[in-house]
Amino acid sequence: MAVLHNRVSQKELKQRLLQEKEKRITISFYQYHSISEPFVFRDELYKTLNALNVFGRIYIATEGINAQLSFPQSKFEELKKYIYSIDFLQHVRLNIAVDDDGRSFWVLKIKVREKIVADGITYPDFNMNKKGSYVDAGLFNKLTDDPDTIVVDMRNHYEYEVGHFEHAIEVPSDTFREQLPMAAEILKEAKDKKIIMYCTGGIRCEKASAYMLHCDFQNVFHLEGGITHYVNQVKQKGLENKFKGKNFVFDNRLGERITEEIVAKCHQCGKAADSHVNCANEGCHLLFIQCSACEIKWEGCCCESCYHTFQLPLEQQKKMRKGIDKGQNIFNKSRKRLRPRLNE
Ligand SMILES: [Zn+2]
Ligand SMILES: [Zn+2]
Repeated sequence: MAVLHNRVSQKELKQRLLQEKEKRITISFYQYHSISEPFVFRDELYKTLNALNVFGRIYIATEGINAQLSFPQSKFEELKKYIYSIDFLQHVRLNIAVDDDGRSFWVLKIKVREKIVADGITYPDFNMNKKGSYVDAGLFNKLTDDPDTIVVDMRNHYEYEVGHFEHAIEVPSDTFREQLPMAAEILKEAKDKKIIMYCTGGIRCEKASAYMLHCDFQNVFHLEGGITHYVNQVKQKGLENKFKGKNFVFDNRLGERITEEIVAKCHQCGKAADSHVNCANEGCHLLFIQCSACEIKWEGCCCESCYHTFQLPLEQQKKMRKGIDKGQNIFNKSRKRLRPRLNE
């Protein structure tokens, strides 16, 4: 029986990664497909990937798989062959990460979850077999030339804020769970219109399209591979680009610029700006948009109170943080938390 988890400490594993000589590649893919025995599938996957020296994070659910993998360059062909040998992954699109330092993962974790994307859907007869039609960049452009087509952004508010498709509707909620019924409510008068849903990589809008069909919408589409794939296709094929501003990404850059337009405003002074920062006060860490002038004026802090805390000696700051809800220190995404502060 193979060992299905690691028995080596995190520190040791990180050190091993740093000592590796060979370059690593990071890829991601997802597929909605009914998996009847997710635990059996996980064990099988773990054994094979572990033998290929693959690291990463994989979620498996009865509705499908969502994977991010890092592996030595020389194993790419073998890995591809294995992935494509799994019947429902035969034609899966493998997205290769750009700007990759190969240090994204140092251990392989495969978890079985209830869903690959938490959706809060409770309809017993909902499943992912009936979903909207895929559109590629070319068809997306063609369909959206018709002013009657409705484009819906299925990302978080802070992602929409710095960049989105022309005329796209924002569905302003903090979580994807709340966003699904909200989208159906906003669009309830448009059940027979053409509706195109999109998100960053496709996994959320694909589920959203199935949800909309379940709610009796008739003509639902979703953008294949999301914004990321759209932007690549537009560049490769020389198509018109209808995405404006920045594509928010969850790495240190917090966004890649797609066009020069700045569609957002500084949360402090209202001037055009679209750079996300985390508040410099470690006890706050709020994610917000700050222009370069405000960054200097407030030393990277989000408000006056954080600015004053930030001026105190480090030791005192640490003392102040003790006992405070740790939740405040994580990457904060809540619109609710953002709004009151902006009015301070
Ligand atoms: Zn400003
Ligand atoms: Zn702050």
